Amino acid sequence: MLPTAIVIDQRYARHRPGQHHPERPERITSLVAWAEEAQDAVEKLPPRYATNEEICRAHDPTYVERVAATAQQPLVHFDPDTAACSDTYDTARLAAGGFLTLLEAIVQGGVENGFALVRPPGHHAEYRRAMGFCFFNNVVIGAEHLRRRFGTERILIVDWDVHHGNGTQHFYERDPNVLYLSLHQWPLYPGTGDLTEVGTGAGEGFTVNLPLPAGTGDAEIYHLAKEIVQPVALAFRPDFVLVSAGFDGHRRDPLAELALTDTGYRYLARTLVEVAAATAGGRIALVLEGGYDLTALVQCTHAVTQELAGQRPKLPEPPVTAAAKVLLERFHRAFERYWPL
Ligand SMILES: [Zn+2]
Repeated sequence: MLPTAIVIDQRYARHRPGQHHPERPERITSLVAWAEEAQDAVEKLPPRYATNEEICRAHDPTYVERVAATAQQPLVHFDPDTAACSDTYDTARLAAGGFLTLLEAIVQGGVENGFALVRPPGHHAEYRRAMGFCFFNNVVIGAEHLRRRFGTERILIVDWDVHHGNGTQHFYERDPNVLYLSLHQWPLYPGTGDLTEVGTGAGEGFTVNLPLPAGTGDAEIYHLAKEIVQPVALAFRPDFVLVSAGFDGHRRDPLAELALTDTGYRYLARTLVEVAAATAGGRIALVLEGGYDLTALVQCTHAVTQELAGQRPKLPEPPVTAAAKVLLERFHRAFERYWPL
């Protein structure tokens, strides 16, 4: 097996969205420290910048110019939560480019799989709008790169950030070749991601939203991974698996109320590594989204990177809880017309 890669760079700390903002530079400095200490087993890739053309595959050029115009300016607010400092445009291009670096390394054969540890995050960014701490939609830019540069046909995007990835869903909701599957707390910011949002036109059925009540934990995630995520993903038969990997569903996270631990993220990662092995020649790439408790962020990043690298401890196999039973029945009913559940 080829090595697992991480993309990490201290320059991702240069985006400063304002004082006391949860999406803060320390998220990256914590991960840089983790990567320096313990990670001899993984290959570290230095990121490149995404080009304007690559970013404009996912965004309106006029909007990209608006973000570019914030360079060397004092703080510019795009919405109450989302502000660009003088280095944000540069850092956001490096975030998208870091994911492209990882994808190129996987496709061109140097590494098995990997995780791009970048910021600012991306999944709330719409075609012509920054929102929810996000400027450029890194996972969409990555998926479009795979399609246009490498001819990848079927892409599965799993979004396990605790918030729904509205930007990603909207970009692909008419497209049957990109399956967007999101697990997120509901109701919660940004308000999209209802069970009834299943895609439109030819894309109907290729958006799969799994809204989760506050308090959902590892036991429920274990069963959802096995009985919903895995069968849907295998039936779709992706050529590449991408993951919007946020860790704000951890029980320590200050922005949301799910109750996951690093074990819950291992269940999801293990399931998707298996899906990638079965249909995508092992090709799976993660890109960091949210996760605002630094201890949980490092722990979960470590756990998921181990899963990618084939270091798989025996995990508990929890019984079906009452909460899991309710969710499984609800999701079976919603999706059995589209997928063999
Ligand atoms: Zn989030």
